[in-house]
Amino acid sequence: MTNNRLVLDGEAVAKEIKEQLAVRVRRLAEAGVTPCLATVLVGDDPSSATYVRMKRSACRRLGIDSRLVQLGRETTTAQLVAAIRELNADPAVHGILLQHPVPHGIDERAAFEAIGIAKDVDGVTMLGFAQNAFGVAAFPSCTPAAIMALLDYYRLPIAGKRAVVVGRSPILGKPVSLMLLNRNATVTICHSQTVDLPAAVGAADIVVAAVGKPRFIRGEWIKEGAVVIDAGYNPGNVGDVDYEACAVRAGAITPVPGGVGPVTIAMLLQATVDAAEAMARQR
Ligand code: NAP
Repeated sequence: MTNNRLVLDGEAVAKEIKEQLAVRVRRLAEAGVTPCLATVLVGDDPSSATYVRMKRSACRRLGIDSRLVQLGRETTTAQLVAAIRELNADPAVHGILLQHPVPHGIDERAAFEAIGIAKDVDGVTMLGFAQNAFGVAAFPSCTPAAIMALLDYYRLPIAGKRAVVVGRSPILGKPVSLMLLNRNATVTICHSQTVDLPAAVGAADIVVAAVGKPRFIRGEWIKEGAVVIDAGYNPGNVGDVDYEACAVRAGAITPVPGGVGPVTIAMLLQATVDAAEAMARQR
């Protein structure tokens, strides 16, 4: 069975955003400013190291400086907080990214909260979350921002639509729910204790999967013509959506890989450039 579904191409969206950013990076360079993202990596988790490598090389390709602060797995919360505070105080650093999860034993929330709001380009602080919830300008969490950018790039209507977000994590499910609400969607947030998830998903015009379970969202749950956004990324390059089965019914769908992921990195670069421009204006 085929339909006229639209495959939401995250690589194309990311390419366009990065082209616009390259112009802004050149303008900053003319003013003597090189945007700089500091990445803090704690411990030796191989997938965290891979994510950091990907983000750093994306920075370099765009002319953004990328500084790596690497700390051992025995680092204490106090040491991590001190390292982050040093970056807050460094005028050459415009954005701070703490790669997470951090090793057990570190208070991750305390470390996030040490990031100054002006440099919270990954949108992980409680203040940043609250500002976004209020619709006040702040750097949003990158994956939620990427989801909104994808919907906007393809001019998919949000206002008045019934959006169902599966997952309520502070960096993904909750902020994207509030961003959809701020754009006048009617939002339902589902989680592990939701009763009758298939019925909730089946009522959605827009489904956002942010569960962390491979191929969790089933094709038969999807309403004909719904927009399906898969924020999931599981081992083996598999999303949280059963792509083949959902694509048959969806009006538009993101693939994994090549959907939300590339746009997420573009959002991080964009926030770093925004931060550099804001700091340059204050000089
Ligand atoms: P998380 O913190 O583990 O949260 C998962 C959420 O899913 C929780 O709210 C949980 O509910 C809910 N959930 C778990 N089992 C469920 C079930 N059976 N029915 C309904 N809801 C259920 O994960 P996360 O950090 O938000 O990440 C979610 C996914 O997005 C992962 O695949 C991750 O790899 C991916 N991700 C992708 C990017 C990207 O750039 N594309 C960035 C970040 C994350 P409870 O709250 O009740 O436990």
